Amino acid sequence: MDQRLRSSAEGVAVVTPAAVPERTGANEPGERIEWIGLSSVRLPLAQAISDAKVFTGRQRPMTEVMMLFAQIRSSSGLEGVGFSYSKRAGGPAQYAHAREVAGGLLGEDPSDIGRLYDALLWAGASVGRSGIATQAIAALDVALWDLKAKRATLPLAKLLGSYRNSVRTYNTSGGFLHSSLAEVQENAARSLGEGIGGIKLKVGLPDTHEDLRRVRAIREYLPDTPLMVDANQQWDRTTALRMGRALEEFSLTWIEEPLDAYDAEGHAALAAALDTPIATGEMLSSVAEHRALIDARACDILQPDAPRVGGITPFLRLATLADVSALDLAPHFAMEIHLHLAAAYPREPWVEHFEWLDPLFNERLEIRDGRMLVPDRPGLGITLSDQARAWTVEATELGGR
Ligand SMILES: [Mg+2]
Repeated sequence: MDQRLRSSAEGVAVVTPAAVPERTGANEPGERIEWIGLSSVRLPLAQAISDAKVFTGRQRPMTEVMMLFAQIRSSSGLEGVGFSYSKRAGGPAQYAHAREVAGGLLGEDPSDIGRLYDALLWAGASVGRSGIATQAIAALDVALWDLKAKRATLPLAKLLGSYRNSVRTYNTSGGFLHSSLAEVQENAARSLGEGIGGIKLKVGLPDTHEDLRRVRAIREYLPDTPLMVDANQQWDRTTALRMGRALEEFSLTWIEEPLDAYDAEGHAALAAALDTPIATGEMLSSVAEHRALIDARACDILQPDAPRVGGITPFLRLATLADVSALDLAPHFAMEIHLHLAAAYPREPWVEHFEWLDPLFNERLEIRDGRMLVPDRPGLGITLSDQARAWTVEATELGGR
């Protein structure tokens, strides 16, 4: 990655290394990345998970999540940790791509995240600047941000510039379609009892009457709780409009992924036709794809996912686009990262609560009065658990400790 030429006896032009600016505070002069650890971890889920994509026959129930962890240690002695993930397929490819490009970070200044991000992106540009290639470098980018915040001894949200010390949170994991109505009610009661402020219910069943029956039952059970529904892209435009109109009476906080993730035009028409806000964006994997949604006015609430779009660096770029377009924000999954990013978003956001990743970390996020509290620990405030190490299926180290 280091393009600087050193002295040459052959008379080749010598390019003097760029001057390193004087540093102050926690930034060590001449700080360099010395060691990178990558690991692929297979996280088993307590029960097989089914959303509408399973009921329409497009996917099988999900039994595990593949995690890609990156650890980056600098000459400061501090270590950043980041992660990316995949569901059902793609985990080995993410790990392989990260292993191929990560070595380019060795010897570099970990503060220069923008420059390093571009280098990682261009190293794999021939296979694309979205999808698996960016998801692989997301783990490295998140680790660089975690490291930077630790060096500043600040929670990541504070480093970015917080608007709030806690974020509204809603639970998703209790409202899947493999759960009976009674189980969804039981899960919702438990979540609310734990201090969570909203409940999301999966819809998109082949029988739309059954969807409406479930939503009505949960709304009657929880008349005053913010309630969202998520169709996981399983409606066509006609069904989405009919269902959207039928759902208006329930005063939902949003309808999520009513249509195919790439149907910006369809989402825009739906958002214009309904009072209920439309949310989407979790499946997209680049800033450019999000920009297409934003430009089309396709939704009221954008749902980017930092590991999916390539990390915190691209997330911040698209969050700025979303804010200047007056969109609300509800990042998808990965609450351990998104809590910090949501806390630094100008408009009051939501963060999605899933307990699935809990076994991977030693820390637990505190939830109170409907909100998730930004931890006061430096960086993301997470450390890998012994259980995460036990579930590691492949690992590699670059550089030396
Ligand atoms: Mg969703």
